Amino acid sequence: MTAVHADTPSTQRPRLDREAGALVGSRCTACGWVCWPPKAGCPRCYATDLTPAALPTTGTLVSWTRVWVPVEGIEPPYLLGMVELGEIRVFAQLRDLGEDATVPAPVRLELAEEEATPQFWFVPA
Ligand SMILES: [Zn+2]
Repeated sequence: MTAVHADTPSTQRPRLDREAGALVGSRCTACGWVCWPPKAGCPRCYATDLTPAALPTTGTLVSWTRVWVPVEGIEPPYLLGMVELGEIRVFAQLRDLGEDATVPAPVRLELAEEEATPQFWFVPA
């Protein structure tokens, strides 16, 4: 992976690594804080020297909801959830979750085969 540069627009910073099959955040070299999506500056200590950080591909679903509002490329209803991935939490789409799913629950990351909306989601592990 290449370094995350502060002068790279946020929409152009890679958010996932298809070869690794993982989401890519950024880690602050000053304080170690990890965030996703990748940032130009550390939200904790404001340092601007951040490096790419591959996030774990499995985590824990800690909350979820069913969404009925359509967004471009995603037909409702769909599921959104908060997933703990190591040190951080990621808000993402969920698939294959049962109607009576409870939390906390183990989940794993899946990436779309190609450019698509969404690019990734989590499924029960
Ligand atoms: Zn920091």
